[in-house]
Parts: sequence; structure tokens; C-alpha cells
Amino acid sequence: MTARPDLASFDLPEIEQALVRLGHPRFHGRQIFQWIHKRGVTNFAPMSDLSREMREQLAEAFDIRTPEVIRTERSSDGTTKLLLRLADGKQIESVFIPDTPSQTFCISTQVGCAMKCAFCLTGKMGIDRDLTAGEIAGQVRVLARELHMLDARFNIVLMGMGEPLHNYDATMKALRILNDEHGLAISPRRITLSTVGVLPALERLATEPVMPNLAISLHSTTEEQRDMLVPINRKYGLKELLDTCRRFPVKRRERITFEYVMLNELNDTPEDARRLVRLLHGIRGKVNLLPLNEAAGIPFDRPSDERVNRFARILSDHGVTVSVRKSRGRDIRAACGQLITETQKTQPPGRRLAMLMEQGV
Ligand code: SAH
Repeated sequence: MTARPDLASFDLPEIEQALVRLGHPRFHGRQIFQWIHKRGVTNFAPMSDLSREMREQLAEAFDIRTPEVIRTERSSDGTTKLLLRLADGKQIESVFIPDTPSQTFCISTQVGCAMKCAFCLTGKMGIDRDLTAGEIAGQVRVLARELHMLDARFNIVLMGMGEPLHNYDATMKALRILNDEHGLAISPRRITLSTVGVLPALERLATEPVMPNLAISLHSTTEEQRDMLVPINRKYGLKELLDTCRRFPVKRRERITFEYVMLNELNDTPEDARRLVRLLHGIRGKVNLLPLNEAAGIPFDRPSDERVNRFARILSDHGVTVSVRKSRGRDIRAACGQLITETQKTQPPGRRLAMLMEQGV
């Protein structure tokens, strides 16, 4: 890996400052930003509106790092998963989910994840490192380029590998880069940040000028059970989390989404549903039920459709808006909680073997 700074990780003001330091006028910053983020170029040579000397000088001072596609898998339902290699050889996954009814890119914020939620395969990997802002925004560029969607409308969900609020600065900078009118100009209303609720970071998010939609991975209605399913609950408990949500500045006509993974006979009973109704009282929220995507090594079962529907009906009978997430891309292991890079050396051999056996290799 080269030691040159990655210009794809700079926001527009930072590119402008860098140019001024090199003795160039600041207005070239916009051109460079457009080339990188709107047109998706991966080096300085195609930047035809800059002089040759300037391009050479920039190439000596900076890199433009772009995640490299090493495998593309397409599900029978059209969901497409990209395995990407970063400049240091680490791997992450990003997913395109068509027609939900919108087109959605699901992107990662970390290599692995430190949260260790009991039902999530990414959590089993542990954390390797944070992604940079350039690597987070870069996934969108690569998906848009690979799927011929650079000029298309799409939504972004930060629901791939990693916990976005555990990599706060890079995630927020990536959102600013994606939002910039000289780049892809993606409105924060089309971006959803999903979090287990890292409270200090959630409080900070409440003050951000560029504010994405918020999804909270709730998954449980009691402190004891959530301590087990979502271990960060031992530090930032359910009650505090919901109090923070109650105070969160939700925009007019918008709501916080509460994600609730359904685990058979564990958190899917009518009592759970009624407790959930009570907990959400006074919060501008809606519930998205996620019937568990099962996987080897995950010690829970997916409930029957009947149990899911019974739970959903109790919520809606009590005036809570509820939807059930259709799991997409399960045949290519692209569904929620299934993202993991199998070849990671950080995994013990037994786990790698279990994964290979599960895939029928
Ligand atoms: N770290 C963030 C975003 C990543 S996961 C978060 O936890 O919110 C996106 C969603 O998928 C989360 O709600 C997560 O709990 C859920 N998920 C994880 N494993 C799952 C599984 N096996 N089946 C269904 N949903 C799962």
C-alpha cells in the first residue's frame, strides 16, 4: 500500500485546501471532486479539464483509491452482492437490492463488527478495522458503476457489515461526500443509518446538519434479554436508548424505524408484542420485523409466518405502523446478518470449514 493520501476520502473543502497548498486555484477542487465522485474515475489521467502538469503533480501527491470488485453474485431475486477488496487487501461486501420498490444499495462501514449481536454472522467475525470515508462512499460509486446506475435514483442503507455509529467520523464524512451537489448529490432523506444504539454517538447524530433517516436495531423488549442478544445493551440500556429516541429531532412526516429480528419462541410472543407497543409509546416510530435469516453457527430459529403475522397484528391493532422485511438474496448469503468474508484469516479454521460446508462446497 502506498503512503500517499487518498483524495477519495477528502470532502470538497479539503480538496480545495490541498490544491491551494500545492499552489493551484481552489476552483479546480470542484472539477476533481466531480471526476472522482460523479464520473467514478480511478486515476488522474482522464481529468481532461486539468493541465497535464497538474495531473502529474496530483498523481505524485495523492491516490484515488477505489474498492476493487473481486466477485459478483446475483440472486434469483435480482439481489446482487459484490465482494470488494480494499487497498490493504481487506475485504468487505456491498449489496444491491432491486425493487423494494426503490433501488437500494446496502453498504458497509467497518471490516467486521465489534457489536457481537447473538444472531448476526458479521458479529461473529469480530472487528478488523474501520472503513475510511473514501471506502464507505466508494462502495456507492462502485455499485453505481457496476450496475450502470450512475445517473439513476437509489436509496442507501448503512446496513452492511459494521456498526456505523462505532465509526462515526468516517461515516458522517462519507454522507457529506455522497450528499455534495458536485458529486452524486444523494439527499440524506434517501439514506438510512441503522444502529444498535451507541448512545454518545446517537446524541451527536442528533446535532448533525446532514441527517440521515434513523433505524434502531431494538430486537428485544426487556433489558435482560437485550443484554444477551445485543451485548452493547449492558453499557447503553434499552430504557436510555428509548429515552434518547424520544428526544431525537425527527423531521416532520418522518419516523424512526425500529428493527426487530424475530427469533422463534424467544422474542416473538404476544407479550413481547404488547410490551413493544408500550415501550414505543410517545415515540414517532414504526416497526420493521425481520424474521431471522438462519445460518450455521447461529443458535436461533426463524419463526413461522403465522407467529410473525400474529406479532405484526398485535402491533397494528394498537396503532403501531409495522412492516415485515422480505429477506432478499438469501441464496447468495446477501441477506441481513449474513455478510461475512469467508476467506478472512481472522476466522478460526473450524468456522471457515463450517461456512464451506454450509455452502455445499
Ligand atoms: N450495525 C448496524 C447495521 C448492520 S445490520 C445495526 O445493527 O443496526 C442491519 C440489520 O440486520 C440490523 O437490524 C441487524 O440486527 C439485522 N440482522 C443481523 N443479523 C440478522 C439475521 N441473521 N437475520 C435477520 N436480521 C439480522
